[in-house]
Amino acid sequence: MAYRRGMGRSTRSNDWGFPRWRGYGSSREAAQVRLCDRHGCTNPGNCPAPKSPNSPERWMFCQQHAAEYNAGWDYFAGLDAEEAAQREADETRDNSGYREAAHYGWAGSGDGTRSRDELRALDLLGLSPDADFEEVKKAWRSKAKEVHPDVRPGDEEAAKAFQALQLAYEVLRAAEERREWKG
Ligand SMILES: [Zn+2]
Repeated sequence: MAYRRGMGRSTRSNDWGFPRWRGYGSSREAAQVRLCDRHGCTNPGNCPAPKSPNSPERWMFCQQHAAEYNAGWDYFAGLDAEEAAQREADETRDNSGYREAAHYGWAGSGDGTRSRDELRALDLLGLSPDADFEEVKKAWRSKAKEVHPDVRPGDEEAAKAFQALQLAYEVLRAAEERREWKG
């Protein structure tokens, strides 16, 4: 099947917020194509990827994003802070059974009490899964400083890296607050 939509566009589409299912072709033919779960991607999603360790739930990604997801890089690109936090919350809820199990003897973090997004965020900050929030703050400050728009004006790569760091920090901060709130 060809997925060029005849508009001569070669750049990645940025049509945020489309439903994840969309009919391709005319409405009479109306073949529903499962879209890639990567936010903003309009390619068909036909590569399953586990949402979190020990979860039967799957994201459906296009080949490129499945590879990207599995490689774990650029994971936060294309999400704003609210979406990242929402995804984080969803994953935490999906993991609730796992987290409850962790209550009985698997104390501490880095043992399944961290969601996949938190682990991604820690990885992005160059931290280990058992890093505490003080370490998060420290790593975030020093890394964000290097790519801050004031330091690297007009540098698009730096701007992207800076945004990814911000999102990673948001994910970890939100998770930290949830933990404190639960006591
Ligand atoms: Zn995709």
